[in-house]
Amino acid sequence: MSTFENELIDQFGSNAVIIGNDIPEKYFSDWMTTTPVGTAIALVRPSSTEEVSSLLRLCNSRGIPVVPQGGLTGLAGGAKPVKGCVLISMERMNQIESIDLPSSTISVQAGVTMGAVQRCAKDSGLFFPLDLGGRDSCTIGGNLSTNAGGNRVLRYGMARDLILGLEVVLADGTILSHMNLMLKDNTGYDLKQLFVGSEGTLGVITKAVLKLFPQPRSTNTALCALKDYDAVLKLLTHVRQNLGANLSAFEMMWPDFYERMTSGLGHLTTPMAYGHGAYVLIEAQGTSPESDKDHFEHVLEETLEREIVEDVVVAQSESDALKIWAVRDSSGEFRAVFWPHVGFDVSIPTGQIGNFVEDLKAQLKKKWPDTQTVFFGHVGDSNVHIGVKVKEGDQPEEEIEDFVYSRVGEWRGSISAEHGIGTLKREYLHHSRSPAELQLMKLLKTAMDPQNILNPGKVIQLEAPSNS
Ligand code: FAD
Repeated sequence: MSTFENELIDQFGSNAVIIGNDIPEKYFSDWMTTTPVGTAIALVRPSSTEEVSSLLRLCNSRGIPVVPQGGLTGLAGGAKPVKGCVLISMERMNQIESIDLPSSTISVQAGVTMGAVQRCAKDSGLFFPLDLGGRDSCTIGGNLSTNAGGNRVLRYGMARDLILGLEVVLADGTILSHMNLMLKDNTGYDLKQLFVGSEGTLGVITKAVLKLFPQPRSTNTALCALKDYDAVLKLLTHVRQNLGANLSAFEMMWPDFYERMTSGLGHLTTPMAYGHGAYVLIEAQGTSPESDKDHFEHVLEETLEREIVEDVVVAQSESDALKIWAVRDSSGEFRAVFWPHVGFDVSIPTGQIGNFVEDLKAQLKKKWPDTQTVFFGHVGDSNVHIGVKVKEGDQPEEEIEDFVYSRVGEWRGSISAEHGIGTLKREYLHHSRSPAELQLMKLLKTAMDPQNILNPGKVIQLEAPSNS
């Protein structure tokens, strides 16, 4: 064992440190990437902010790269080990520290899972709205570092909108603690937001103060069928104006997605007949169960009367609602009916999504005549997910990515709506960020982490990569 490895064990104890080839395989894979075991020299599982600080100070003094890891559910390769690194797993920092009812906040350590925060809030009669498929594995530190979105962004915003305070350890071990509980806090630069979405490249998040909301007491769900995307925009305007802040989801499925999933999977119902140009799931959550349902149904009746929609199915029970959501959530089962394909998570201004989709489909067909696509997404949040398959069998992945990301750049869209950049989208960042912006990102990274030890090679590649 090297002196450095001995030093780690002396300082943090053998319970918290695993060396080299003894590190279990699970720490080498997130949801999208796998790295050979042996890439990391050690895994350290600190149990306090002070331990994270000592570890970073030690690694910084030796120029050893560190890779922060949460629940390893990331979809962009951000937590992927880099050669010769120390992995910092936040799994032992999993305590909920307190709930403050007057400020409606919860203070947590970074390794606590999203699901645990949701349950704790519920037990106190409150609601933590951030929600996504990996809820019982992903951690608050990972959610903030990737600025996660998910199912309720339309109403509550992304992870960055849900924090009031943050504690972070910088590359040199400095602890920045601003566990603020106040909604109003205009005291200079909003430093916490620098760390949100920076995917562990600027600091290690150790604690956060999260906003909580009243627990919804009613949920109403419907599936609408429409002629085309112009009608979808009219529907969005109508439900925004009439359901107001209660509108919690506006999820669109193009016919290629709706028909393929409902007919192909075998276990889904078909809540709406085929043959329409667009399908939209609408959900509203409120606090007046008696009147919310009547109002919801009335608003949707109006859309039929005004011929905005061609048909509507309103869920009459929780089980109806689950069946409608099951169709939208079936994207997780793509492998069964649409595989292999290359997937994209992009944003385009909501008003232009319809034209973008038509243009992209036409351009893909021109280049690869046998192209098949599926489109679906949180269009109320300007987010569209795309699956592209240009032929049967292995896909020319890089070529398809180049092609689609270039089109997204031409439409002035975002190449990553909610999953981050990590390693997988790093080479395409220039399609959404200007040279001046990329230069400023590099300047910030160099100023805050001059030795480039924090998650090197993720998000941006510095001119002289030291460790990736
Ligand atoms: P990891 O995967 O462990 O790490 C992700 C990144 O954060 C890495 O760069 C890592 O270095 C960094 N990091 C982790 N912890 C810290 C820390 N404490 N300090 C500094 N950096 C840290 N995302 C969406 O936005 N919307 C969705 O709808 C959505 N659905 C998903 C559904 C499924 C089934 C899955 C598997 C993932 C989904 N995701 C979605 C991806 C989502 O971004 C991640 O699930 C989650 O936010 C990452 O959390 P994690 O703890 O797993 O982080």
